[in-house]
Amino acid sequence: MLSDSVVQVKGVGEKFAEDLAVVNVFTVEDLLNYFPYRYDVFEIKPLSELIHDDKVTIEGSVVHEPSLTFFAKRKSRLMFTLEVENVAIKAVMFNRAFAKKQINTGDTVTLTGKWDAHRLQITVSSYKIGPAENHASIQPMYSLKGDLTNLKIKKTIRTAIKEYADKVEEILPQFYLDTYKLPDRKNALVTMHFPKSRLELKHARRRFTYEEFLLFQLKMQLLRKIKREATEGNAQHYDVNKVKAFMEGFPFSLTNAQQKSLKQILSDMKSTYRMNRLLQGDVGSGKTAVAAVSIYASITAGKQGALMVPTEILAEQHYESLVDMFGERANIALLTGSVKGKKRKEILELVQNHEVNIVIGTHALIQDDVIFDDLGFVIVDEQHRFGVEQRRVLRDKGLNPDVLFMTATPIPRTLAITAFGDMDVSVIDEMPAGRKEIETYWTKANTFERVLQFIEKRIANGEQAYIICPLIEESDKLDIQNAVDLYEQIQAFYPSVIKTGLMHGRLQTDEKDNVMKQFAANEIQVLVSTTVVEVGVNVTNATIMVIYDAERFGLSQLHQLRGRVGRGDKQSYCILIADPKGEVGKERMRIMTETNDGFELSEQDLKLRGPGDFFGKKQSGIPEFKVADMIHDYRALETARNDAQEIIETNLLEDNKDFANLRTYLENDSFLQEKMD
Ligand code: ADP
Ligand code: MG
Repeated sequence: MLSDSVVQVKGVGEKFAEDLAVVNVFTVEDLLNYFPYRYDVFEIKPLSELIHDDKVTIEGSVVHEPSLTFFAKRKSRLMFTLEVENVAIKAVMFNRAFAKKQINTGDTVTLTGKWDAHRLQITVSSYKIGPAENHASIQPMYSLKGDLTNLKIKKTIRTAIKEYADKVEEILPQFYLDTYKLPDRKNALVTMHFPKSRLELKHARRRFTYEEFLLFQLKMQLLRKIKREATEGNAQHYDVNKVKAFMEGFPFSLTNAQQKSLKQILSDMKSTYRMNRLLQGDVGSGKTAVAAVSIYASITAGKQGALMVPTEILAEQHYESLVDMFGERANIALLTGSVKGKKRKEILELVQNHEVNIVIGTHALIQDDVIFDDLGFVIVDEQHRFGVEQRRVLRDKGLNPDVLFMTATPIPRTLAITAFGDMDVSVIDEMPAGRKEIETYWTKANTFERVLQFIEKRIANGEQAYIICPLIEESDKLDIQNAVDLYEQIQAFYPSVIKTGLMHGRLQTDEKDNVMKQFAANEIQVLVSTTVVEVGVNVTNATIMVIYDAERFGLSQLHQLRGRVGRGDKQSYCILIADPKGEVGKERMRIMTETNDGFELSEQDLKLRGPGDFFGKKQSGIPEFKVADMIHDYRALETARNDAQEIIETNLLEDNKDFANLRTYLENDSFLQEKMD
């Protein structure tokens, strides 16, 4: 059986079994699935093209029996001569005494090893009895730990395949193998270890890539289905006409993408399922409008709504724009850290009595004393800035409220497919019409004066600018000092009619407020700031965003900062000041100047950083695939997702006997069993 311990494989003793355990190989099945992490491919080239000291592969016939000599302690040298292109070549193999019996005069052998062009000698690192297939030798390279050696693993797997390969069962339904022309499981598995050609290997990899993605998608989607069925929520019977009338009062009509997302949200709200949905949309794509309409729907169903945001500035801004949008339709309260004492008490009472319909706030919202009469709808903006626990606390202030998370950090489609398997996702992938593309430039630090002159010209046109200060790692204090220095420098540079403001995290809330208000009223034309303006600030008259030390920021943060401009109908500019040292830094700057599309940018970011880094390894929930590569094999991932969707929606696992093996496999899967408990 494949579940046999590896010691059942001929030649595997207790010691080697222990070595294998280090790399999590315990059973025969584990061993067969211990795929090489890469392959060394050596083409057979004419002797005249071989380069001294290179690793090369040659093919020839053995002229003399190998001679074996021992030296030092348990060391051996095997030497023989072979003929290649009518030239006698010496082959040397160290510590492979056992090979003496395998290599006989007249045999054709394929040898890979280090080439010594002066002595016409090869020091063999791997060999094969027989000719090379397709004039290339493909060597599997296994990842090694402890006492494991590549050779030993290879040998053991070869034996295991001989003894057990027939037990490998197909789990994919024939239909998919036919449709995508994939090799069957057994053959693909043998190929993964001992590929005869690159083409064969390619197809074997294609097969396992698809298999891994399909299994993963099936698991995630099954999980979501099970969760959906298990969590009781409230059916919110909202008033369609009132909701329509509310939207008709907007000075714009929703984009198609907004409408689509809204429809998905409303449909969740109407159902008894407890919504757990992520609304993704680039900065300025109009998430707030969608959020407002859904909260309003909840209010017409007699519920209360809560909106939690990460910063006070953002809370206040949302508060103002929602008060504006709702008018008489709702009582809205603002609850932040700076709302204290009597005022806070008053608000809490109104919330508890249901005299307030919507509460907007920061972490202050999740204090114990905040009690709702009937919280039916929760929105968490910039959800990644809150911990899981904080989100849960807010949710638990209602009785199974519908929850909408919002994020302006576009998550690459690639990751969204995988990472949020158990969350529903709506995407606003379209900007409201009429927005002008922000022009982005990258310049070196020594051009700062010219940048300031450029800003001066725009200010003469009535526009405003942000300047984000140089960043000093791990030191808030120094960052603030930097901001102060830069602020003073700029103040001195400009004539006194141009007013400069300063903003950083250490200012008191009312000081921050004051600066923001002055900037919003164009009493300040240039705002020097640390990254505290990153999230959500909305001053439509600001058209220039200058970012110092741009190479020190991640792409998505740069994009967030850039999103502070381009919010009105004037042409906006983003100027990146950076002297990146490495290629990746330069590439980032180039990408910023080339695209304004947050999704595209995040895909690029993912390519530069890799999926593990994107969210931070732990919380990402992204599995490690053995063969598949999420970025490279993105198309296969999409295909697998669609197939998984179809399989689950049409109940193929239960109803169709071609899917029986797949079903059994999933039933035995520990991931699902764990999650379902
Ligand atoms: P987000 O929260 O996604 O960054 P907002 O909801 O703040 O975006 O919207 C940005 C700006 O676009 C706001 O001033 C808003 O009034 C406006 N807006 C939203 N939806 C539309 C639309 N469909 N057409 C035109 N303008 C819109
Ligand atoms: Mg927003």
